[in-house]
Amino acid sequence: MINLLNSWMPINCPACNFSFEVMLRDIRLEEICYCHNCKKSIKLIDNNASFHTEINQANEALKSLEIAIKKMFK
Ligand SMILES: [Zn+2]
Repeated sequence: MINLLNSWMPINCPACNFSFEVMLRDIRLEEICYCHNCKKSIKLIDNNASFHTEINQANEALKSLEIAIKKMFK
């Protein structure tokens, strides 16, 4: 189940439309990534509609896992 966060998701750079992959874990952490082509920084939230949809689906799958982890560390 943790492996979901280590899976890769293709995104398109909003500046140059170059396609590259980011890890779901980085999206969850709202990391800044850099386009491999034009080197612009990209915030890993809501960059396009399909991206947003993928994140929502991931959140659904991770809900029970997150609850379990929070209980473990409290
Ligand atoms: Zn780019």
